Amino acid sequence: MAQTVYINGEHLPLAEAKVSVFDHGFLYGDGVFEGIRVYGGKVFRLDDHLCRLYRGAKAILLTVPLTPEKMKAVVLECCRRNQLQNGYIRLVVSRGPGDLGLDPRKCVDGATVVVIADSIALYPAEVYEKGLDLITVVTRRNPPSATNPAIKSLNYLNNIIAKIEVTQAGCFEGIMLNHEGYVAEATGDNIFVYRDDRLITPPVHVGILEGITRAVVLSLARELGISVMEEPFTQYVVYSSEECFLTGTAAEIAPVVKVDGRVIGEGRPGPITRRLMAEFHALTTREGVPIGLDEVVSRA
Ligand code: PMP
Repeated sequence: MAQTVYINGEHLPLAEAKVSVFDHGFLYGDGVFEGIRVYGGKVFRLDDHLCRLYRGAKAILLTVPLTPEKMKAVVLECCRRNQLQNGYIRLVVSRGPGDLGLDPRKCVDGATVVVIADSIALYPAEVYEKGLDLITVVTRRNPPSATNPAIKSLNYLNNIIAKIEVTQAGCFEGIMLNHEGYVAEATGDNIFVYRDDRLITPPVHVGILEGITRAVVLSLARELGISVMEEPFTQYVVYSSEECFLTGTAAEIAPVVKVDGRVIGEGRPGPITRRLMAEFHALTTREGVPIGLDEVVSRA
C-alpha cells in the first residue's frame, strides 16, 4: 500500500494526505486523471500518459501548475519513496478548492495535484486464462458533443452506472454502445475484435478514451504484420468475430470469450489474442522510464 502521497509539492504520510471538501474535483468531478503502470521498476509509457493528461487539462481549460518535465520528476520521486517495483500510479489534477458554485474562476488557489503510488488487480488471474463473459449495458457512453470520453476526466459517473449494471449481471465487464448504437468501449477498457483476418477497434470519434494500451496494441499488431483497422462496428460484428479482447493499463490485454450469451470463436482466448498478450508482456519488460530504485537502495 502507498506509504506517502504527493499533494501539491509535498510527499505526505498516507494518513495526512487530505484534500479540501471544497475541492471541485470532489464537489463536481472537475479535473483529469491518469492511471499508469510500473513494471520491474520502470514506468510504462509515462510520456504518453502525461501527454494525454495535459491535453485533457487543456480541453477543460484547467491549468496544470507543473510543467510536464516537473510532473515526470514528481511521479518518479513518488514511486521511489514508495519503493514501487511493480504497481500502479494514480495521477490526479483537480480544479482545486473553490466555493459551492460551479464557477471554476472561484478556485483561486489553483489546481490540486495528487500522485498515489499503489497497486491494482482488476480481474482475477483466471480471466487471463479462460477469458471474460461480457454483457452489453443499457447505459450509453457519453456522446463526444457532451463530456467527450476522449478526456480522461474525474467525472466517471457514466462508466460507474454502466459498471453497476455489469456487476448486477454477475459479470466483470460490459460493452458500452455510443449514442448511435455503435460499439464504443468497455466501462474502463478499450475493445478489439478479430474478424476476417483483420484486427478492428472503434475510432476515437465514436466516443472513447484514446487508450494508451490501445495504441500499444495497434502498433504491436502492425509490427506482427496483422491487418489493423479503426472503424465503427455494431454488436453483430462482435457476436460474429473470431476473437475479442479488452485493453487497458490496469486490465492489460484481457481475452473475451462470450458476449451477451454468444460464444466468441471457440470459446477460449484465440491465437491472435494470446500472441498479442505475450508480445505486450515482453514489451513491458523492455520499455519504460526507470524510477531509479537502485539509487535509493544503494544510498540507504
Ligand atoms: N476506456 C476507459 C473508459 C478507461 O477508463 C480506460 C482506462 N482505464 C481505458 C479505456 C483504457 O485506457 P488506457 O489503456 O490508457 O489505460
